[in-house]
Parts: sequence; structure tokens; C-alpha cells
Amino acid sequence: MRAKDRILVVGAGLSGAVIARELAQEGFQVEVIDARDHVAGNCHTQRDPDTGVMVHVYGPHIFHTDDMEVWDYVNGFQTFRPYKNRVKTVSGGQVYSLPINLHTINQFFGTCFRPDEARAFVETQADTSITEPRTFEEQALRFVGRDLYAAFFEGYTRKQWGCPPADLPAAILKRLPVRFNYEDDYFSHAHQGMPEDGYTAMVDNILDHPDITVKLKTRFDRTQSDGFAHVFYSGPLDGYFDYGHGRLGYRTLDFERFTYQGDYQGCAVMNYADLAVPYTRITEHKHFSPWEAHEGSVCYREFSRACGPDDIPYYPIRLVEEKALLADYAALAERETDVTFVGRLGTYRYLDMDVTIREALDTARLYLERRATGGVMPAFLHAPL
Ligand SMILES: Cc1cc2nc3c(=O)[nH]c(=O)nc-3n(C[C@H](O)[C@H](O)[C@H](O)COP(=O)(O)OP(=O)(O)OC[C@H]3O[C@@H](n4cnc5c(N)ncnc54)[C@H](O)[C@@H]3O)c2cc1C
Repeated sequence: MRAKDRILVVGAGLSGAVIARELAQEGFQVEVIDARDHVAGNCHTQRDPDTGVMVHVYGPHIFHTDDMEVWDYVNGFQTFRPYKNRVKTVSGGQVYSLPINLHTINQFFGTCFRPDEARAFVETQADTSITEPRTFEEQALRFVGRDLYAAFFEGYTRKQWGCPPADLPAAILKRLPVRFNYEDDYFSHAHQGMPEDGYTAMVDNILDHPDITVKLKTRFDRTQSDGFAHVFYSGPLDGYFDYGHGRLGYRTLDFERFTYQGDYQGCAVMNYADLAVPYTRITEHKHFSPWEAHEGSVCYREFSRACGPDDIPYYPIRLVEEKALLADYAALAERETDVTFVGRLGTYRYLDMDVTIREALDTARLYLERRATGGVMPAFLHAPL
């Protein structure tokens, strides 16, 4: 490496911050730009000025991982407090526990099943005529049968994705979405928690290095790459190419904020499974910081819809049409030199935070290795298709 080679990182989310830190520590001069007026990307947290509640501005974020190196990494930049995500759902005028577990089953069917009995009963509900499920709907009917599907999956999935579950691939519902015990922890990873001072403070600490400069409210265009040895781009893949082939499909979210004096719903996340309720869930942010005490409360009603050109892209759709367009953009990206596309937007994939950090660490390490050996850095470490 030549002394103080300059690196441009587009995006100050977790992908950009981790790559910037890893390279700055190895002697590179790193410039990080972000179009927004804050760091941390979609994990951004901010204290509500009226109530003092730490708000997850772009929707609820719970850290969960089995990756010990990633867990140690985040704990090096923030104190993590224990936090278990326990989600409830309203369906047909009743509140149930999610993921569907023995309590949900017994409450829903008015039974007192033990695990083996519940398993045998759910098997009688399953549609065994479906031998090779092709769609989300078939997969759900095959696993749990019509009644549980209608109560817990059909309406919610339709609201979330804006299309009937029969139009979605079976792969979205990978495993049996039912537990035959009373375990109601949403995630089953070994390490789970919440950063004590929020994710933005954690990302600020990651970026706090003398060889990292952060420029906010700075939108990338390709002319800015001049003078940099390499660009790590965590913005939208199609945006890099000025959407020349069209836009990759995303779902966006609208958050309707409201406040409440006291405890609005008694938990952090309450889903609404019925199609008649237009929102998918209500998040009550103070429950994400159970170690804090706040009288006032900040809640978000969350609505999902198709993402327009001026909206924030949240969830990549990745159906057949999008995959064809994605192949075009991936081919264009492969032709670029000295640019690597990273993160959830750069590779058009849904990535949890721990996976994002793992991939960012691996990307930085591969870059260092390629620099040391004179090898070429690929456009993607993780192919989007
Ligand atoms: C609603 C929701 C809930 C989630 N909940 C969880 C959860 O509970 N647990 C979990 O592990 N993960 C969760 N995630 C995933 C998590 O948000 C991602 O893992 C993480 O945000 C990925 O980081 P990133 O840096 O790749 O992308 P981002 O956080 O999106 O960062 C990209 C950054 O690039 C900037 N940018 C884009 N284009 C440009 C441009 N042209 N010029 C300059 N800057 C640009 C953006 O402003 C943004 O700051 C959730 C995601 C969503 C959508």
C-alpha cells in the first residue's frame, strides 16, 4: 500500500462504517459520505425530545447473532443490554403470542394440548395433498392448514408484500413456523441485545478514527470516485447506474407516529394480522430500552406499500421480474473497476445487522489481502443473485 491511499465509502450505515473502520486501522485515509443528515443508515436511533424515549427511526431493530466475532465487535463499540424480542399479534379480536407456539395453538383452538398432542393435531390440519409447495400460500397450508394460515399468515403477508401469498415464492416461509412448546422468544440466536445508547452512538464510535472523515448530506455521483484508490458503495445498486435499466422493486414503510402518557400496549411490537386493519404492526419504542423509565411513550403505526422513486427503499422484492433486472445491473457492476458493491442496497438483499457486519468485515479483509498480493477486488463479495 502507498502511504495514506484514499478510499471512498458511500453510505454511513453499518456496511460503510465497518469497512471504513477496518481500512482506516490499516493506514488508509477513508472518506465516508452519506446522503442523509445522520450516520447509522436504517439502524438510526434518536432520542425523542419530548419524552426522552430512544426511537428506532426507520423501524424496530433488535440485534441477534450466533457469530461470536460479530458479537464481540459490536460490544467493542457499545455496551449491549440483554433484550429478548417477544412479539404479540392481534387476530380476530384476540391477542396471541408469536411465533405460533403451544400457547398460541391452545388459545386459538381452545385446547389444552401437550407438545405431542399439538404436533399430531396440527398434522391433521395440514394440507397433505400439497406435496411440493410452490407458493407461500401452499407452503403455509402444507405446514399448518387453513385455519392457522388464515388467522396468522394470510392478511399480514398480503399487507406486508402488497400481493396475495399465492403470488409469493414458497422460500419466504422456509421452516415450519410453529413451535410445540411455550418458547416465545422471536429469535433463537445465542446472543441478543440492544445497544445501551442506541445504534447511532455505536456507529459514531465505529467511525471515530483519525483517518476517517464523514461528510453527511452528500449524495454520491460517479464523478466523485476520482482520486480514490477504491470505492465501497452501499447505496442502491440500480441508483449507481442512474436507474438506466429501470428500478429494482422495493417495499417502503410509512410510520404514523403518535404519543401516549403511560404504557400504550404493554410490549414493544404488536402485529395486526387482520386484513381489515390497514397497518401491519404498532411499535412502542420505550419497551426496546426496558432499563430506562419514561412516563411518556412514542409509538409508530407501520404501513407497507410499493416504493416510489422518492421513497426510502426498505425490503427488496426479489420476484422473477426483479431478478431479471437485477441480473442486468449485476452484469454492469461486474464491468466496473475499483468499485465494490456492499450491504443491503448495494447487493439488493435483505440482510440482518449481524450478517451485514460479517460481510463488511470479510470485504475489508479481502481488500487488504488483494492489495497485499496485487490481486483484483471483485465487484461483489456476495453475488446478488
Ligand atoms: C424495517 C426494518 C427492520 C429491521 N430490523 C432488523 C432487526 O430487528 N435486526 C436486524 O439484525 N436487522 C434488521 N434490519 C436490517 C438492517 O436495517 C440492515 O441490516 C442494515 O441497515 C444494513 O446496513 P447497510 O449499511 O447495508 O444499509 P443502510 O443501513 O441502508 O445504509 C446505507 C446508507 O447509504 C446511504 N446512501 C444510499 N444511497 C446513497 C447515495 N447515492 N449517496 C450517499 N449515500 C447514500 C443511505 O442514506 C444509508 O445511510 C431491519 C431492516 C428493516 C428495513
